[in-house]
Amino acid sequence: MVDQYEVIVVGGGLVGATVACGLANKGISVALLNKENPPRILPQSDHDLRVSALTQGSVNIMKGLGAWPEIVRRGVSPYRDMRVYDGAGNGCLHFDNTETHFQELGFIVENRVMVAGLWDLFESSDCGEVICADPVVAIAPHSLGRQLTLQSGRCIKAALVIAADGQHSSMRSQMGIGVRGWPYHQQGLVTTVSTTKDHQRTAWQRFLEQGPLAFLPLRNGQSSIVWTLGTARAKEYRDCSEVDFLAALTAASGGLLGEITGVATRAAFPLTFQHANSYTAEAFALVGDAAHTMHPLAGQGANAGLLDAAAIIELLVQAKERRRPLGSAHVLRRYERWRKGDNLVMMTTMDLLKRMYGVNDQPVVQLRSWGMNMINQSIVLKKMFNQYAMGLRSGLPKLAVK
Ligand SMILES: Cc1cc2nc3c(=O)[nH]c(=O)nc-3n(C[C@H](O)[C@H](O)[C@H](O)COP(=O)(O)OP(=O)(O)OC[C@H]3O[C@@H](n4cnc5c(N)ncnc54)[C@H](O)[C@@H]3O)c2cc1C
Repeated sequence: MVDQYEVIVVGGGLVGATVACGLANKGISVALLNKENPPRILPQSDHDLRVSALTQGSVNIMKGLGAWPEIVRRGVSPYRDMRVYDGAGNGCLHFDNTETHFQELGFIVENRVMVAGLWDLFESSDCGEVICADPVVAIAPHSLGRQLTLQSGRCIKAALVIAADGQHSSMRSQMGIGVRGWPYHQQGLVTTVSTTKDHQRTAWQRFLEQGPLAFLPLRNGQSSIVWTLGTARAKEYRDCSEVDFLAALTAASGGLLGEITGVATRAAFPLTFQHANSYTAEAFALVGDAAHTMHPLAGQGANAGLLDAAAIIELLVQAKERRRPLGSAHVLRRYERWRKGDNLVMMTTMDLLKRMYGVNDQPVVQLRSWGMNMINQSIVLKKMFNQYAMGLRSGLPKLAVK
């Protein structure tokens, strides 16, 4: 059994699996540790409750890794328009692909589809090993970089440990890295719904008093929803009867997609703003939700995590080519400088939008509706917003740029 790798990635969700694939593709030996082995054969009859609206930047990353064909084979849903409404006023924003050279603004992808595609790719590589259901019980410095002791007693070492173990990262805690942030006292209620009107391959969003309600178009004609609600209301709607839920959702949607006629299992996730005080420590780095968690109102959390992944892949591949140590302070400092500021801007923007749409005083509603309509009529501003939302801004890692 091998006990030495160049990099160990802890957490095989969509961000960790991306890092592992990107490094293994370039001949860097990687151990990918995850709580469990995710399913690779997915039932066609239902949808994962967790879906992500992937920007073109994220799609470029998947294409660059070679994972995109496998993800597409399992099923993705392109969206060509995005329509955003202020439920309390008359503000409206419409984005489409006419200003871009892309056929679509992005893709709605089930998280399990992306993870399955990435794991298949990783397991086909000669440079990777998967270790499941053997949690890390200790992390310690080592002459190579770091040593992890697993519950089974096995010890593995690497020049660098990358933690991608999500919002409640135990690796981050074991390394003593603190976080700053606050709970939103809101939950994101997610489910899949059927509607009487066609979704027209459009992502719809309506800002309401408690938070935004988004309808994301799925390939089978249904829509995946993310409905931000105060904690008590989210629990009420998660647990109420189907009839009551359909009525409440139809009313909240303002008839955007007609009547809501069917709903799958419902789940609700607490929403927080959380940012790690540091993204790195000696021979250690955080990526994805382990480093930052943001409000999902513009669906940017996974996209931001994939940019972390692409950035750290680029820097580590460069270090390997230049025969520099992978876990060196120089490499880690560059990673932190590159990603921390960018993520903070995105998180703060989401937070400001959340606060701005949480106010229902008429002067504020009128002002923000005026602002939305003004952006909608300005070709320059609209193009700028569109590029940002599609993940096509400057300073991105090479993998994210086609
Ligand atoms: C309601 C809601 C809607 C969202 N919608 C969008 C959207 O439309 N677009 C978007 O970009 N983002 C969206 N997000 C955010 C997005 O889901 C997350 O940012 C993304 O899933 C983070 O991926 P990750 O790989 O960093 O973490 P996770 O997906 O949490 O993966 C962590 C992985 O680590 C494993 N793990 C955990 N602990 C350990 C351990 N101790 N040892 C080993 N393995 C471990 C887990 O099993 C898992 O595989 C949404 C979030 C919410 C709450």
